[in-house]
Amino acid sequence: MPHQDEPTTSVVRETHHVEALIIGSGLSGIGAAVTLRNAGVRDLAVIEKADDLGGTWRDNTYPGCACDVPSALYSYSFAPNPEWTRAFAGQPEIRAYLRDTAARYGITPLIRFGTEAIRAQWDPGAARWRVETNRDHYTARFLIAAAGPWHEPRLPDIPGLADFPGEVFHSSRWRHDHDLTGARVAVIGTGASAVQFVPAIQPRVGRLHLFQRTAQWVLPKPDHYVPHAERRLLRRFPAAQRALRNAEYGALETLGLGFRHPSLLRAVQKLGSLHLRATVKDPRLRRALTPDYTLGCKRLLLSNSYYPALTRPNVSVHATAVEAVRGSRVVGADGSGADVDTIILGTGFHILDMPIAGRVLDSDGASLDDHWKGSPDAYLGTTVSGFPNAFVLLGPHLGTGHSSAYMVLEAQLDYLAGAVRHFRAAGWTSMDVRPEVQAAFSAEVRQALSTTVYNTGGCSSYYLDVNGRNSFSWPWSTGRMRRRLAEFDPEAYTATSENSNRLL
Ligand SMILES: Cc1cc2nc3c(=O)[nH]c(=O)nc-3n(C[C@H](O)[C@H](O)[C@H](O)COP(=O)(O)OP(=O)(O)OC[C@H]3O[C@@H](n4cnc5c(N)ncnc54)[C@H](O)[C@@H]3O)c2cc1C
Repeated sequence: MPHQDEPTTSVVRETHHVEALIIGSGLSGIGAAVTLRNAGVRDLAVIEKADDLGGTWRDNTYPGCACDVPSALYSYSFAPNPEWTRAFAGQPEIRAYLRDTAARYGITPLIRFGTEAIRAQWDPGAARWRVETNRDHYTARFLIAAAGPWHEPRLPDIPGLADFPGEVFHSSRWRHDHDLTGARVAVIGTGASAVQFVPAIQPRVGRLHLFQRTAQWVLPKPDHYVPHAERRLLRRFPAAQRALRNAEYGALETLGLGFRHPSLLRAVQKLGSLHLRATVKDPRLRRALTPDYTLGCKRLLLSNSYYPALTRPNVSVHATAVEAVRGSRVVGADGSGADVDTIILGTGFHILDMPIAGRVLDSDGASLDDHWKGSPDAYLGTTVSGFPNAFVLLGPHLGTGHSSAYMVLEAQLDYLAGAVRHFRAAGWTSMDVRPEVQAAFSAEVRQALSTTVYNTGGCSSYYLDVNGRNSFSWPWSTGRMRRRLAEFDPEAYTATSENSNRLL
């Protein structure tokens, strides 16, 4: 016990001054670091609250975890990987790829692990971001928020859940120390993660109760093992790999076209219905699994094993939301219920209300959350008026229901590189997107979204924010996204310059 008169030890926090500070070391943060380096920024740091890089692919270790766009597309174009052993790689391979890429491009030593951004505020006098972390402090000319929209688990507010006597965990925080063999398990949620882990755990558990509020469209997954010979070919002929990537890109863009013109989706929806009919023979179960909205309105799911798993004798599908948990009983809104030992939450993430938005503040101390009031908004999904020199990666309005997050990210990274190059060449000290430019972009996006399946398909999805507006989706092709973000457009910004520190 310290003596009362003894001076209390105060933590001395060092302040590091860098040109660019990146928050997060998932695929966005790593990609941003490579891009900034290539744009000539030598003085940069990445802060990461966890003790390893990889973000989603570090945290999600649930059985069956894999990507749901082909790996040739779910990777950086500048770091193609001929070694994927499956067309849709599993989590361990994706995690290893991110580690290898970060090491190969010299990014790993720039990452300060165990360092969580608590508060980042713009200082207009210094024209720098001041960032407080749980460790040191930073000032930075540029702030890159790469904290991930699919990072913070969304835990449902179910009465009685907190008093459940058994184990409860979210799919992204899988309890590998908890043996599911023979257990009675309730799964709440039927999104992209549940579709992967349900078939993986079904053979092991004693009984599986799936609580499904909304039926999902599930298409067959064209996944397969990639034989050694094919990998060797891809290794020897990078052009073959580029051709594969382009072909897969083309196929997904065709699907995206349907999402923008829902009448074109009939054939794909028919495929979904056929897939269901071919795998689920029981008409009652089939009815329960048949969605009542247009395919594409929610994120499209791919699986060959999900429907078959639901037909197994140890599985019960409760086509209802969960109303309450009473003791060890999970009770559905339709009155059905099940006594279980374990509850697994496949309930998704805080996507449009991600925590970092409460921690990035303008010069008056108002956060992104305060500005957005529940409806995230950014010019080109990337820059926000009032937040100079800051870039949000995988930001609002850029989500696609069909393509790879890498496509979105790389479009943004082109924009980031262009912005930084222009900024330096013009001798700027700050750049802030004009509010009217941001508002015009937002209005254009929202107008274009009004006819897409995301807005008209008759469902509620994570694309919609708390105000019921679609703040997630990009309404055009990813080719158009790439073109729109290819060139930095200085006229969209007000800037201060080195010499005058006045508005340009
Ligand atoms: C299970 C799953 C599967 C997915 N599959 C696909 C797919 O197949 N295709 C696709 O296109 N997309 C997919 N996604 C979506 C998206 O591609 C991934 O979430 C991707 O990893 C996002 O990368 P990111 O770097 O932006 O964010 P993340 O991977 O979430 O990384 C963010 C990082 O920031 C760190 N961080 C957060 N807050 C702070 C803070 N305050 N201070 C310091 N560090 C912080 C986190 O610890 C994390 O390491 C999937 C998402 C999930 C959850």
